[in-house]
Amino acid sequence: MGKLKYVGWMSSPHYQVPNKTGYTEDDFNRLLDEMVDNGMNFLSLHMECQSCYDRYHDGLAWPPRNPRLKPLIDRNCLNAHEESEFLSHIIPQAQNRGITCQFMINSLHWSSPERLVSQYPNFGYLKARNGEESRVVLCPDNSDSWQFCVDEITDLVKYGTDLGVNLYAIESPFYGHSGCCFCEDSRRTFKEKFDVDLGNPPYDLAILGSLRMQELLTELVRVVKATNAQAELWLHTQGSPKWGHLPSCLRKTGISALMPHVYHSRQFESEKHLNALLDYLAPNPCILHCCVRSRMPIDYGWAKDPEDVRKLIGWIARSPAENLEGVMFFNETAVSPENRKAVYEGLRSYGRWLE
Ligand SMILES: [Zn+2]
Repeated sequence: MGKLKYVGWMSSPHYQVPNKTGYTEDDFNRLLDEMVDNGMNFLSLHMECQSCYDRYHDGLAWPPRNPRLKPLIDRNCLNAHEESEFLSHIIPQAQNRGITCQFMINSLHWSSPERLVSQYPNFGYLKARNGEESRVVLCPDNSDSWQFCVDEITDLVKYGTDLGVNLYAIESPFYGHSGCCFCEDSRRTFKEKFDVDLGNPPYDLAILGSLRMQELLTELVRVVKATNAQAELWLHTQGSPKWGHLPSCLRKTGISALMPHVYHSRQFESEKHLNALLDYLAPNPCILHCCVRSRMPIDYGWAKDPEDVRKLIGWIARSPAENLEGVMFFNETAVSPENRKAVYEGLRSYGRWLE
């Protein structure tokens, strides 16, 4: 491993915070002290939560300006209300202490349809070929779903830019495990753009899906830069063709770095796998999105122990990948004291990680 640009945590004002109000200003002050003491320089904040992952929290974690988004805040989250918002104090303090901050949303994810329909009445979820609908991921070919995505990102970048934040990350648009969406809107889109019939999909559907994603992601980069010309947009992805995220297409979008999911599922369990993934994603710069949670959402992944954390840090430290530019440990709100200690000690045991 060469020297990295970014080493730090992903945390959140509310996601997986085990109480109703989410994190307070004091909680973040404690985290900043700890990060400085342990040589970390990067803090990415997850600014939206879905009720399917966290029973206390559903909605946006910042006070939006757009009237269509105002009803969609997480009412339990302190930072989502104008009167108790506190990241405007925390972000400048982090930056003064040498910590680069990022805001992230899953984008095109929403698991409480009864709330979203009040503002975006014709939104739609991804639909598999057998007609089964996703319960959380929205279809980017649906105009109301897409408008929601654009509105959310625009509003988040306005909020962040006022606080001096120039880095943003998203996870979607993507097509699901079916490799495409088969709703009426997607069928129409693919007919119009590629002259193909999704009722009888072509062999190379993943290529066409990636070209469609290239167009959508290029538009989102434009949306971000129209609000803040200095801003960068990063993408959480392993570059799966099924998602429509072929690395060669992502390169053309203006997305400036990828954050591949590492260690989120049991299927990810070898050093060679990590290096193969980085090679596949090259030359896109990568900041690893490493799950070191000891507490997992329902039916998701596996809980890590300190030995798992030490093993992963060893793989990263030995990686020869030239496109490896950083490491983000996830999720700071759901790690045991033992895993936290393993992260900090692991970083120390391999010497200086940062440039
Ligand atoms: Zn669709």
